Amino acid sequence: MPTSAPILNKHVERVLVSQQQIADRVKEMADEITANHPDPSEPLVILCVLNGSVVFLADLIRHLPIRMLLGVIGASSYSGKSTVSKGPSIWHRMHSPVDMKDKHVLIVDDILDSGNTLRLVRQTVEEQNPKSVATTVLLRKPDKAPQDVEAEYIGFDIEDAFVVGYGLDYAGEFRNLPHIAVLKPECYADDVGE
Ligand code: 5GP
Ligand code: MG
Repeated sequence: MPTSAPILNKHVERVLVSQQQIADRVKEMADEITANHPDPSEPLVILCVLNGSVVFLADLIRHLPIRMLLGVIGASSYSGKSTVSKGPSIWHRMHSPVDMKDKHVLIVDDILDSGNTLRLVRQTVEEQNPKSVATTVLLRKPDKAPQDVEAEYIGFDIEDAFVVGYGLDYAGEFRNLPHIAVLKPECYADDVGE
């Protein structure tokens, strides 16, 4: 574990995916996405699911040597000091110059857990009649992910634990940890499961 962030890392119980593992895998995923781009003569619309995906997105797109347009969509299923999902809601559709009609769209999300968020985001995208839709997630909890919600590009399968880092938060914090980690149980002590 890097010693560069002792204030954050003192709360970390264990690291599940290291900074180097993430960097290597994100590059591989970008290569796969580039190779599978349905029509390189057209820009790929990349739709970032806020907030947890912003770090993944920033690294991923810098490895994509293709034409692309960026859009964002806000979705949340956990709120405040909670590790218990309350079901997803699209909390904000940002005004974006990106029109998805007849475009190839790639949804970028941080983690596929129950799949409820991605199901809703995908429905929202499909309502706009894109030419194609694919999804990439950095993480998946395979024990929980339902059959009907699939991601075409998956970074890592992880155990069913509440993780933070590399964009993922607990109560709004820890997004800036460079690795994917599980916090010490006492950090979740305020969890009221709202
Ligand atoms: P789902 O709707 O698939 O259950 O949950 C998806 C969303 O919940 C993710 O996009 C992410 O924002 C949040 N989420 C799910 N699992 C975790 C986790 O282990 N840690 C954190 N920080 N967020 C999670
Ligand atoms: Mg999310």
